[in-house]
Amino acid sequence: MNTAPRTYEIRTYGCQMNVHDSERLSGLLEAAGYVRAGDAEPDVVVFNTCAVRENADNRLYGNLGHLRPVKDGHPGMQIAVGGCLAQKDRDTIVQRAPWVDVVFGTHNIGSLPALLERARVQSEAQVEIEESLVTFPSTLPTRRESPYAAWVSISVGCNNTCTFCIVPSLRGKEKDRRPGEILAEIEALVGEGVLEVTLLGQNVNAYGSGFGALAAAPDEVRAMTAGGESAFAGLLRACGDVEGLERVRFTSPHPKDFTDDVIAAMAETPNVMPSLHMPLQAGSDAVLRAMRRSYRQERYLGIIDKVRAAIPDAAITTDIIVGFPGETEADFEETLHVVREARFSSAFTFQYSKRPGTPAAAMDGQLPKEVVQERYERLVALQEEISWEENKKQLGRTLEVLVAEGEGRKDQATRRLSGRAPDNRLVHFAVPEEPVRPGDMVTVEVTYAAPHHLVADKPARAVRRTRAGDAWEARRAGTDGRQGVSLGMPSIGRPAQADTPAPGCATVS
Ligand code: SF4
Repeated sequence: MNTAPRTYEIRTYGCQMNVHDSERLSGLLEAAGYVRAGDAEPDVVVFNTCAVRENADNRLYGNLGHLRPVKDGHPGMQIAVGGCLAQKDRDTIVQRAPWVDVVFGTHNIGSLPALLERARVQSEAQVEIEESLVTFPSTLPTRRESPYAAWVSISVGCNNTCTFCIVPSLRGKEKDRRPGEILAEIEALVGEGVLEVTLLGQNVNAYGSGFGALAAAPDEVRAMTAGGESAFAGLLRACGDVEGLERVRFTSPHPKDFTDDVIAAMAETPNVMPSLHMPLQAGSDAVLRAMRRSYRQERYLGIIDKVRAAIPDAAITTDIIVGFPGETEADFEETLHVVREARFSSAFTFQYSKRPGTPAAAMDGQLPKEVVQERYERLVALQEEISWEENKKQLGRTLEVLVAEGEGRKDQATRRLSGRAPDNRLVHFAVPEEPVRPGDMVTVEVTYAAPHHLVADKPARAVRRTRAGDAWEARRAGTDGRQGVSLGMPSIGRPAQADTPAPGCATVS
């Protein structure tokens, strides 16, 4: 009898939410005795899908089709499909790909090990989709991908109804996590070496609304908001009190709910980094109305002005959709106007495409592809120019960079290392004489600016070895004593970057 533990591989598509969910899926599987597959063919393949991208379903069925002969030649292999597309398509997946063993939704990722086991014992596909959250995902075991930075969920779901977005119907209404639990998770992460956390939610500024009336809110929320501050501003300030936590980021805020007290909390809390990702989506009020996004251009630019006044060094990034149904040339010019005014350091730009199940997919005025393409190219050209100009302003600045793993694809050839500046700009820097590890901090002077990164080729000004670097080294040497996961509390980690962020979930708020 083969007693070797079963191996698994997770293939993740889409946004940061999914990347973080995949950390939990890994944690769950490892807690159940599975081990991550190395180079060998895995016994279990899990697809964590995204429904946001165009043709996401064709891509999934294509991938499942490729796996079919592999499964036929690998007795006992199981295939599971979870995530937003599974929540949306449900039984259709096993109808179209009967060799799939398990389908699970966004609300019950904790069921995966049990469903795999049931499918194995009963030799029958298991489809289990819940309509609402069963367990707040952050209470599930997690296998963090990195020792120096981590995602921390503060809420799931969204109460907005943007007409291009499938998220509310797949992830449900907003549910907030208690601040005490969030802070306990952050403290545990810091205890394991983590220096940076990114607070994650579809609409972080609405944090607290999920508790309902204030009278019914947990005590710690009432305490945080006693001075009239919003719960999210209070949470940012509370992060400032976590000893050893050096960098706090968050994604994504919604302009409609962005209050001045959040800007004040950002400016006055030293470990909250000077960076802001605030989705614009469109500059025209008419298009924003059609998108059912309840702020207008003036409000958006007003927030930017206030952020720049309070945090002059802030790097502001955004998401923009080009070619929404009914967008006229004049509407598009309004988007270009906001881009010129806001001077984003970078932007994720997307061509609108119909997403089945969203109200916008059924709207009149869908634009021809050539029109959308031409506008998109103009937008990208303008943003590239601004990104480059803004990056050139960084020349000569001295920055402390958190050394990252896997952020510089050409590092070996260029003899550089890479990391993130406080404002989240990517910096490639000359290898210092002193040894440095991912998670350490290196102080460098910027010597060159490209549109999407900075270079620092002079010798490093300083190297600071950190607990995160120690944790990285211990993990690599296998001396960190990790048993794969910790139950209930997170293990060490870093938010893995999705290769290309999809215009969905946290990136479209
Ligand atoms: S785009 Fe963001 S704010 Fe709008 S419905 Fe989707 S998740 Fe919610």
